[in-house]
Amino acid sequence: MDVLTTKRFEFSAAHRYWNPTWSEEQNQAIFGKCTNPHGHGHNYVLYVTVAGQVDPATGMVINITDLKRIVNGVLEQFDHKHLNEDTPYFREQQPTTENLVRVLWGLIASALPAQVRLYRLRLYENDDLFADYYGGESASFSRRYQFSAAHRLHSAELSAEQNQALYGKCNNPAGHGHNYRFEVTVEGPVDPATGMVINLVDLDAVVQPLLDELDHTHLDRQHAFFQRHPSTGENIVRYLWQRLAAALGERLRWIRLWETPNNIFECGVREP
Ligand SMILES: [Zn+2]
Ligand SMILES: [Zn+2]
Repeated sequence: MDVLTTKRFEFSAAHRYWNPTWSEEQNQAIFGKCTNPHGHGHNYVLYVTVAGQVDPATGMVINITDLKRIVNGVLEQFDHKHLNEDTPYFREQQPTTENLVRVLWGLIASALPAQVRLYRLRLYENDDLFADYYGGESASFSRRYQFSAAHRLHSAELSAEQNQALYGKCNNPAGHGHNYRFEVTVEGPVDPATGMVINLVDLDAVVQPLLDELDHTHLDRQHAFFQRHPSTGENIVRYLWQRLAAALGERLRWIRLWETPNNIFECGVREP
């Protein structure tokens, strides 16, 4: 049986998005602030997951010290560099998170010893934006959003006593509230022109009406869906899925909702 081992790495780099075959206006429309000719930068965080058999002598899939040396050897050419200007990988493609994770995949996979295989790379550009790559044609791209709302857990199908017994404090008639956070994961081929699975501006445009609708509202009192369904985390994540699937179609893969940092609800086609 294969066992997975994951190690976390950090590196810092500058980059700029610019497609020379497009006009200034097109670049601006697709890439926005990322077109700044001077560049900007990120603290990237990379999770490297490898798979393999546990060596009976060492009890390890790979010596974590070896994994650290191999990956840091690869990251040396990216850390504290400008991705466009100091590396050869982004002359013909944009240094997006999706393209960067695929470049890193090629370099890390070929540097690993024969007994382990690269299983997954997850690359965070910041806390709210990351790409996953498993090799192959498709990559997945995830972005986090937040809204703040009041709600009350109450089911029209139960008596007042049953509601109180089931939901306890959450049944308080006037309501209470949360900072809801959710992560939207889309999957598909990387567009060679933009270097993205989905244009960030387009994804934000799809999600924004939903945020406008829910943010700083009372879910039960102001939204028809939650008048018919108790505003549990399960029903909220189902509602987000319905709304976003209508706009994103088959590219939508997974939604993860945090009601609080301790209560997490998820649904989708395949867990990222
Ligand atoms: Zn950037
Ligand atoms: Zn609550």
